[in-house]
Amino acid sequence: MSQPRPYNFSAGPATMPVEVLSEAAQEMLDWQGSGMGVMEMSHRGREFTTINEQALQDLRELLQVPEHFKILWMQGGGIAQNAIVPLNLSCGDSANFVVTGSWSQKSYQEAAKYCRPVLSAQRNPDDLEWANPGTWHLSDTAAYTHICSNETIDGVEFQELPDLLALGHESPLVIDCSSHIGSRSINWNLVGCAFAGAQKNIGPAGLTVVIIREDLLGRALATCPSAFNYSTVAKANSMFNTPPTYSIYMAGKVFEWMKRQGGVAALEQAAIAKSQLLYNFIDQSEIFYNPIDLAWRSRMNVPFFIHERAGGQERCNEFVYLAKSAGLLQLKGHSSVGGLRASIYNAMPLEGVQALVEFMRHFEARS
Ligand SMILES: *Cc1c(COP(=O)(O)O)cnc(C)c1O
Repeated sequence: MSQPRPYNFSAGPATMPVEVLSEAAQEMLDWQGSGMGVMEMSHRGREFTTINEQALQDLRELLQVPEHFKILWMQGGGIAQNAIVPLNLSCGDSANFVVTGSWSQKSYQEAAKYCRPVLSAQRNPDDLEWANPGTWHLSDTAAYTHICSNETIDGVEFQELPDLLALGHESPLVIDCSSHIGSRSINWNLVGCAFAGAQKNIGPAGLTVVIIREDLLGRALATCPSAFNYSTVAKANSMFNTPPTYSIYMAGKVFEWMKRQGGVAALEQAAIAKSQLLYNFIDQSEIFYNPIDLAWRSRMNVPFFIHERAGGQERCNEFVYLAKSAGLLQLKGHSSVGGLRASIYNAMPLEGVQALVEFMRHFEARS
């Protein structure tokens, strides 16, 4: 390429490791001498079975998923899981919801179609009482407790998962980890079920990963669609219906790339370094700010704004426009919050964040 490839800060679908894209390009017409592209293969054939099993094994190894958890490939994204989780786990009873931002709010609302959601806690920027799980109103009769461990829109991340058992609460924890899966380790002792759409940190859209403790299978409501029934999908090794084969293949390539980077521990260190660089710049800036309490700032999604006195939203629009011509793409904030947002997933190199900070420094100096 003559021009350097721009850095893409999209929240999702998001930037992919460039090595993964070029490997896939090379294999597009002929996967390893098979005479077929991966999109053209039967999902039950020998070639795709090899790809699939390697991807599953690598994900299990990367996230250190214990043997008594099943990894399922599903479809429908995180939003479908907002229905699929209560269909599978609620038994029509109640379920606890901790609402820390837009995504957990959506989950809480959707669940009401299938069970009785309880609002256990709600994030309040002005009073951090909600941040202590000891204050949550956890219903004893709840079938599970839902959190969104990284709020992609709000930029709010749990730095530690809550230990419900230590609080004397028995229901399994369900985590929507769509936008930070693979950027930190998961303590599986604390989790019953984790789900993630692939298009943030794992690969292309179309694939949803569900990791579920085996004893939670077999509880689905009779009305649960078969293709969305965790036990049915688990029994069929995620081949009850045709899985999103190309997305699985691409995710598998990302898993191999993650292993070459040194695995999740190394990627976590990189995420700390990248996010600190950006937050440190924002915090000393005269014009930019991030409103999230330090202890809750996301390492993956960094929303930031320009003070009203420095031009506010209009200035943000100018920022997005100029950043694009400087090779820094998709920095517009989510439409519900405005401002700016840099999503700095695993595939974003440190150089990309350095380039963004340099651009912000120049932008500020010109104001
Ligand atoms: C993106 C996202 C979703 C929704 O994913 P879809 O694939 O659009 O259904 C859900 N939860 C979180 C935390 C997300 O970041």
